[in-house]
Amino acid sequence: MQTAPTQVQHFIGGSFCASESGAWISRENPATGDALRLIARGGAFEVQRATTAAEMAAKPWAATSVAERSRVLLRVADGIDAQLDALALAECEDTGKPLALTRSLDIPRAAANFRFFATAILHETSESYRTDAPQHALNYVLRKPIGIAGCISPWNLPLYLFSWKIAPALATGNAVIAKPSELAPTTASMLCEIASRAGLPPGVLNVVHGLGSEAGAAIVAHPQTKAISFTGGTTTGAAIAGVAAPMFKKLSLELGGKNPTIICADADLASAMPEIVRSAFLNQGQICLCGSRVLVHKSRLAEFMELFTAHVSGLKVGDPLESESDLGCLVSNEHRAKVHALVQAGVADGAKVVAGGNFTTGLSARVAKGAFMNPTVLLAPPQDSRCVQEEIFGPVVTVQSFDRHADAIRMANGTRYGLAATIWTRDLSRAHRMAHALDAGIVWVNCWLLRDLRTPFGGMKDSGVGREGGSEALRFFTEPTNVCIATGAQL
Ligand code: NDP
Repeated sequence: MQTAPTQVQHFIGGSFCASESGAWISRENPATGDALRLIARGGAFEVQRATTAAEMAAKPWAATSVAERSRVLLRVADGIDAQLDALALAECEDTGKPLALTRSLDIPRAAANFRFFATAILHETSESYRTDAPQHALNYVLRKPIGIAGCISPWNLPLYLFSWKIAPALATGNAVIAKPSELAPTTASMLCEIASRAGLPPGVLNVVHGLGSEAGAAIVAHPQTKAISFTGGTTTGAAIAGVAAPMFKKLSLELGGKNPTIICADADLASAMPEIVRSAFLNQGQICLCGSRVLVHKSRLAEFMELFTAHVSGLKVGDPLESESDLGCLVSNEHRAKVHALVQAGVADGAKVVAGGNFTTGLSARVAKGAFMNPTVLLAPPQDSRCVQEEIFGPVVTVQSFDRHADAIRMANGTRYGLAATIWTRDLSRAHRMAHALDAGIVWVNCWLLRDLRTPFGGMKDSGVGREGGSEALRFFTEPTNVCIATGAQL
């Protein structure tokens, strides 16, 4: 079994290396406060080295047959499965999320990402058009790899989102320069070893670790990275677009969310409740898709609150290594302080704390210094409160009521974000009408986080630009060329 490294090094041209400067970033285990690992602090120098390696590797990799690329990526997926225990533990240590979650969700999904794109390329089709009189022609579309793709991912679902970007980039024949978040970079590094053993040629996948403002910014600004696929906060996304757009790079930005969960008058509350609670608090609420704003029809508010608070009070916050912990800790004490400040802002605006609102106490000695926070429910904040408008990205959910379903749409659409929404109703024609009216890239009806990797994934408004997933990702990482052949006669 692979073990997580104590020093997380860059992976450039097929080899692990430290930074030229010798600089490291130290990372603590957020659950225990103990020193965990040193992360290489790279910058423009390492990005240039990675670019040189990628330039040498890109053409031969693009020329590799689709069947061979598929085989290599399927072996990467098998390698992830084989290292499930080690990867799950490393991710739990880096992020503080429950080990049971990294074993059941994060790492299996990373393998699924590779399997999906490894097989998707085998079934790719190309558009063609028979052009009619007066000038007969055959038009068809060639799709070529873009060359070198820059992929930048956040800390909340580290390997899940890292692989969601690099798998389609590699599958379509590109070389990649990637940077995971310096808060949770370990599994990206372990993946490099897995990919190398699976036969991915040196230089095809390069990982430069470090701070976003140094390594990340250097990837974005390098003239040879022709596309930037970024997942992270909206402010960072705007900064990246400011650099990449004038350079005419392709851009995919998956940004923040403030997703409404709409409980209609006819919702089957008893059966929906476990999923409503999961959507609010999975991964301590640190998922861009979490349903952090619950909107309840006023006729069901009392019943909803009784059931919801009963479920929330049954959630166990505790040591991420213990199997009975439903929630682990937040990614850092700084992040917990930010989350807590937004709870206090909600209270100052008139919201009532009906569950949580405080840091977790009574934990075992091993995790007594960790960044734990109780699942928090804020009732009836005003729509313009910061706790309703801003992405909290923690175990905090607001509950507001509405009179008419049209009001629910207005409230749901009343933030700058437009990533996801969930509707709980028995009336499917109402669900369809609401889905049409919602500003959201994904609308779930009577379910949450049910993902089919073929579907387009992404947000509107300040939640991002472009879509990932399925054919959208294959298109993003390729450039189309229209070939028009005059046929002289009708085909
Ligand atoms: P950040 O925006 O802070 O960082 C994301 C990544 O970008 C990190 O690797 C970061 O590096 C890097 N980065 C930071 N600044 C720059 C820069 N100027 N140039 C290039 N790269 C940079 O987000 P978080 O890591 O805090 O992640 C949480 C956010 O991600 C939330 O807003 C969440 O909604 C969003 N998210 C969106 C998803 C979606 O699909 N829409 C899915 C998951 C999360 P470093 O960490 O080293 O600073």
